[in-house]
Amino acid sequence: MSDADSGKRRGLPGIDAVICGTAVVMERACGKEGCRCLRGHKHKSVYISQYHKGAGRMVYIPKGNEKSVLRLVKNYRILKSAMREASEVNMARFTAGRKKAKA
Ligand SMILES: [Zn+2]
Repeated sequence: MSDADSGKRRGLPGIDAVICGTAVVMERACGKEGCRCLRGHKHKSVYISQYHKGAGRMVYIPKGNEKSVLRLVKNYRILKSAMREASEVNMARFTAGRKKAKA
């Protein structure tokens, strides 16, 4: 078993199958007369909130892409926590036996 396979074995998503950001569901009224949104059934749209070139932004996701995008956002969270875990394990591995530096 090689390091390259370890991710696949654990069923992790591919490193390129991600969208880093947070999915936000926005509700709005379209303003059309007689539309159900005026009676409380607002239109729901999915946006991705993310940092891009140092600034926050909200990007609208077209209806047909919502499912795919939400999956990729979830993948990002899965990979991020897997990387954190791996980092902890590796830190322990490479710092074993050393006294913790005291501040
Ligand atoms: Zn409406």
